[in-house]
Amino acid sequence: MRAEIIFTGTELLNGQVLNTHGRYLGEKLSKMGVETLLHIAVGDSRERMTEVFCSALLRSDLIIITGGLGPTTDDLTKEVVAEVLGLSMVLDEAVLEKVRSYFITRGRSIPECIRKEAFFPEGARLFDNPVGSAPGILIERNTKKIICLPGPPKELIPTFEGFVPAYLVKSLGQGEVTLTALFRLTGLTEPDVQDILSDLCLAENPGIAFLAMPGEVQVRISARAAEPEAKRLVAELAEKVEARLGGYIFARDEDVPEELVGSLLLGRGLTIGLAESCTGGLIAGRLTAVPGSSHYLLGGVVAYSNMVKEKVLGVPAQILERYGAVSKQTALLMAKGARDLIGSDLGLSVTGIAGPDGGSDEKPVGLVYIALADRTDAWCGKFNFAGRRESIRRGVSNMALNMVKL
Ligand code: ATP
Ligand code: MG
Repeated sequence: MRAEIIFTGTELLNGQVLNTHGRYLGEKLSKMGVETLLHIAVGDSRERMTEVFCSALLRSDLIIITGGLGPTTDDLTKEVVAEVLGLSMVLDEAVLEKVRSYFITRGRSIPECIRKEAFFPEGARLFDNPVGSAPGILIERNTKKIICLPGPPKELIPTFEGFVPAYLVKSLGQGEVTLTALFRLTGLTEPDVQDILSDLCLAENPGIAFLAMPGEVQVRISARAAEPEAKRLVAELAEKVEARLGGYIFARDEDVPEELVGSLLLGRGLTIGLAESCTGGLIAGRLTAVPGSSHYLLGGVVAYSNMVKEKVLGVPAQILERYGAVSKQTALLMAKGARDLIGSDLGLSVTGIAGPDGGSDEKPVGLVYIALADRTDAWCGKFNFAGRRESIRRGVSNMALNMVKL
């Protein structure tokens, strides 16, 4: 089923309101395996809405239209749909009653324009809007399905949820499902990942899609088939992706990395202390965002200057001078220093160049060392992160959390 969504409202075009329905409906439809061809935002203009709706009818099997169901003169969706499909507008007594009683129970007089809310294209099926007076509308015309949803986000979401998913599952029929697996990676750029997986990207079903986000690259595998077959296709491809990218994967599907680290430390009865240079407390912030983190996170040092690395964490001045603050030697001593100072089982440190300044040929922006020390040993990884300062810092925190799990 090919879908298209039309978002109505001049406020979406002039930047007054962000089109959050696009994200919400886009995600919902995609998860249901409905392929969305197009998102179109159109102003509250009868002419342009008509144009957009006519072209959508030529292209798509499912057309969702948001907004413009209210009583004001700029609410045109129902009229435009009825006119294009050659339907007359008919009064729905039940809706009129609901709208009326809303005003009566609040002791307010009934505005004249409100009757408009109770007129619908003839033959339309109405479905409940649990928080507002304008119901959702379904019109089936030959193989086409047209769904209109109210504009206010707090109305659109429950109106959609209460009817559309179940309706679409029934119409999609055929017992096919779309299953997905998501991998979140850090320390590689999107083109790096594409190169590593290039031969696996040729097929469409199962397919691979990429998404670059600050500090991470997401790889989404999806397959559409009868459920057992879809499961098998996703699992087979996921195994190949994991074999090639294993060390860079810091989270899967709905995982929250800081929660994974927390449950791992709790499970093993271990505590951790942090020494953060270029992340400046970001890792501590993420770990402490998880309720109960006081059981395993004892504390941390923002060791931004060499003076703090030396005086607080005990990294010898000669080491800082000889190898520099951004070096394997410094990272290892920072991790041990944090462990000893804080008295935790593990010490985790990061030191690197987040940019935009401070890079050199030898030590470019994005060079980061991450070290982990336990009671007896210590390990250090060297990474080259790409992107701007915020992406680098986010990516480093992802990788550092991942190191605790490895
Ligand atoms: P009402 O009866 O409240 O007028 P309506 O169905 O006519 O509802 P609109 O008038 O188009 O809907 O929009 C109502 C509110 O919802 C406005 O505040 C609008 O900014 C917001 N809204 C509409 N579309 C979107 C969207 N795509 N994303 C976010 N907000 C939206
Ligand atoms: Mg309106």
